[in-house]
Amino acid sequence: MANYKPIHILRYGTVAEKVHLEKAFSAYDYLSINGNTAAFVSNAISRFVVEKFFSRKDKGFFIDPITYAFQNKIELLYSVSKTSGEKRIKKSVEKLIERYGSPVDKVITGMPVFPTDFPDQSTRKAFAERILSFQYDLVYEHIKNQDLQKYLDYVTPNQAKNIPQLRPKFLIAPYFYLDNQDPLWEDWLELNIDFAGISVLQTKADYHLPVFAQLVLSKSMLLDEGSLQKIISRYSKLNCDGLTIWIDDLNEHEASFSELSGFIRLLEGLKGKPIYNMYGGYFSILLTHKSINLLSGVSHGLEYGESRKVYPVGGGIPVSKYYYMPLHQRIDFTKAFYLLEYSGVIDTTKDNWGSSDKYYRDICRCSQCQKIIKKEMINFVEFESREFYEIHKKNQVLRRKKASSDTKENCLYHYLLCKKIEFTKVRETELDQLLEELKKSLALYNVCDYLKEGELDFLSTWESACRIVEGN
Ligand SMILES: [Zn+2]
Repeated sequence: MANYKPIHILRYGTVAEKVHLEKAFSAYDYLSINGNTAAFVSNAISRFVVEKFFSRKDKGFFIDPITYAFQNKIELLYSVSKTSGEKRIKKSVEKLIERYGSPVDKVITGMPVFPTDFPDQSTRKAFAERILSFQYDLVYEHIKNQDLQKYLDYVTPNQAKNIPQLRPKFLIAPYFYLDNQDPLWEDWLELNIDFAGISVLQTKADYHLPVFAQLVLSKSMLLDEGSLQKIISRYSKLNCDGLTIWIDDLNEHEASFSELSGFIRLLEGLKGKPIYNMYGGYFSILLTHKSINLLSGVSHGLEYGESRKVYPVGGGIPVSKYYYMPLHQRIDFTKAFYLLEYSGVIDTTKDNWGSSDKYYRDICRCSQCQKIIKKEMINFVEFESREFYEIHKKNQVLRRKKASSDTKENCLYHYLLCKKIEFTKVRETELDQLLEELKKSLALYNVCDYLKEGELDFLSTWESACRIVEGN
């Protein structure tokens, strides 16, 4: 396939992440923005899009309308006031409700939406129209309210009203979460299919953009062949331009072979359109390989990483961890230290823990690592995220003062750059060699005392799962 390039997508979670998204702009292709974040900080997002994406046609953004948030566990949409103890809808969700209107506004009265709240075509069309126009107009609406319009008139005198870069790369149809434990799940499935069809027609008529359907599934669906086949038979016939997929809480490092092979069967059944995995790690990146070709893009968060629970909506606690490239996993600093020592990359008997040559050769040579580690492995401590660190050896305790405030950034940029390197490597390397490398890492680290038994089993699970596709 000529010019085959899977899309590396980064999830814009909170406003606080904006500064990192700017600095690490070269490390990703598309930005995926949560609907509630988009509604809440639309000024900041619009400015970001105008300033960063305007002249970069290879890059872009899209908005996840998160319509499923109004369907279940709506208590998570509320926050409790610290002063009065009063429960009220979160501001970002309130903004979204203002845009989406009926019937999701019923969550204000404490009621979730049901399939019966969308009884006829006119209700569905009107709802879909609001969800699509919200995504389509978000940036332009705010350009009107800012001095950005003058800037655009100046740089593009005749076409400032419709610059493709300032529209999403594609629109996402309204969608709801599918869980076979929910007795209504097949009603939701039919509703999703109808919304996708309606959105295709509306988008083609009004917006001239690609339109995607988003498939959000519970993990148990992957193990239930009957449910999987129902989903495949309905979604594979949609005439939308692509699919975005999110499996609730599917952690590739912990998933069983059955779960991953269920995921692969789902992707094989849906093959034919671009499919982007909204939360995935290196295993998903391997599925973009040209010999497998089941995914066209993979998204991940900045610090929340590579898997995510569907509920709560948009929350989570960020943790700074070091991405250990040979294992394709984010791990604690201390564990990373021991693994580096075990593999001979760090040698604490040498001055300043030895030279960094082996680190650059075997572990990572991203620009962030080169900037902080320089020539001596002692600088690896810049990845430590606690205030103090102590490493207990047989006869000594190694201690160093509080890590600099840059630690978080160091972990973050190294992680993003590692992801970029993984995308490039998977694109340019034969699959067999990539799978051999997984085996090599397993053989090298599996016998390290510091790791628990079975801790690296995911490496062989990934390899076996990739082999089933390759063998087809
Ligand atoms: Zn690095």
